Amino acid sequence: MTDLFSDDYASAQDLADPLRELRHEFHIPPHEGHEQAYFCGNSLGLQPRGAREYVEEVLDKWKVEAVEGHFTGSGQWMPYHALVRDGLASTVGAKPIEVVAMNSLTANLHLMLVSFYRPTPARPAILMEAGAFPSDRYALESQVRFHGFDPATDLIEVQPDEPGGTLSMEAIERAIAEHGPRLALVLWPGVQYRTGQAFDSAEITRLGHAAGAIVGFDHAHAAGNLPLRLHDEGADFAVWCHYKYMNAGPGAVAGCFVHERHARTDRPRFAGWWGHEQDSRFRMGPTFVPTPGAEGWQLSNPPVLGLAPLRASLELFECAGMDRLRRKSERLTGYLEALIGSRLAGVLEVVTPNDPARRGAQLSLRVRAGRDAGRSLFEHLAGNGVLGDWREPDVIRISPAPLYNNHADVLRFAREVEAWAAAHGSR
Ligand SMILES: *Cc1c(COP(=O)(O)O)cnc(C)c1O
Repeated sequence: MTDLFSDDYASAQDLADPLRELRHEFHIPPHEGHEQAYFCGNSLGLQPRGAREYVEEVLDKWKVEAVEGHFTGSGQWMPYHALVRDGLASTVGAKPIEVVAMNSLTANLHLMLVSFYRPTPARPAILMEAGAFPSDRYALESQVRFHGFDPATDLIEVQPDEPGGTLSMEAIERAIAEHGPRLALVLWPGVQYRTGQAFDSAEITRLGHAAGAIVGFDHAHAAGNLPLRLHDEGADFAVWCHYKYMNAGPGAVAGCFVHERHARTDRPRFAGWWGHEQDSRFRMGPTFVPTPGAEGWQLSNPPVLGLAPLRASLELFECAGMDRLRRKSERLTGYLEALIGSRLAGVLEVVTPNDPARRGAQLSLRVRAGRDAGRSLFEHLAGNGVLGDWREPDVIRISPAPLYNNHADVLRFAREVEAWAAAHGSR
């Protein structure tokens, strides 16, 4: 029988991995003279080696050309956001006219809500998941109030109905059926940040639209993690950040999708000069004429330094291809799950669904012995160069990112859990 816990097994898997060389395109953080086993790509993706060159290109251009940098040479700043447009579109399964890199995630969510959450007394409500990322809830609740409606009745939160705190498709379907006629908007995550559950975005879109609602997604934990099909699935809008699986650096400029059918919408929007039609933008006229597509929601000229690292990251996504990345991701996360199942099930409970179709890279692992033991395990891991992240009260999230993690990393995690359990008698 194959011993999943052997170095031979892990290294044979890594040797057979067609994407193994991509790891060398990243800076892997060091730990005591070796490489860390870094599993926090769901929180802050690692730095692509090419990022520095793009940032330096901007700094050098600024130094030498100053204001002329807007209009001269490759990488000129005026249309800088367009340099990432095609790569971004292919990574999230959209048409180039449907995507733009701008602002931050929560800011983009508000901009999308301004245009796509148009409550009326008959249809005032937003449907969301209970336990959503706080910023999303704050944004949605504040928008409900902003329009003079009451979050107590008009912000409807679907409660988890499965044991580990995940949500069945039936629960979502029931909620849409129950509240359908009152729904202005369904806002859902592609992947839930705490449980790692991936949702059937195509089905949620279909059900939301059938109920007469607008459907939007927060893909913060899905972009760069799952092969999204934003255009084909037909959601009205989506937002995401670029510092998690997209590896564009802390606070990187975020992403936004507006479906092509809204490219020339006359819905209200909060406008700024960079959303103005490009050819006439610099006539500086008083009347806003939106540029067609997602770029029409831009407010300001792009924060070029913040966008530069995304170019490096997108090149790597382009090179790997989302479908190949996903295949590797399923193998890596499946390996993590198998290692836990074979020897560590007494220590860790996998909260994330075990069906690969219902999860991305991340497994959320509840420490059975409770919070204090969990903290002790977490610190043992970190002290031995295995970095996951901690979610109160007792969950460790481990996200093997297929661009730079490998089977050897995953094996290291499992061995350290086993070593900790042996020392703490909790097997
Ligand atoms: C990471 C994350 C955020 C963070 O929002 P920022 O505006 O980028 O600070 C918001 N929502 C979700 C679902 C996230 O996963």
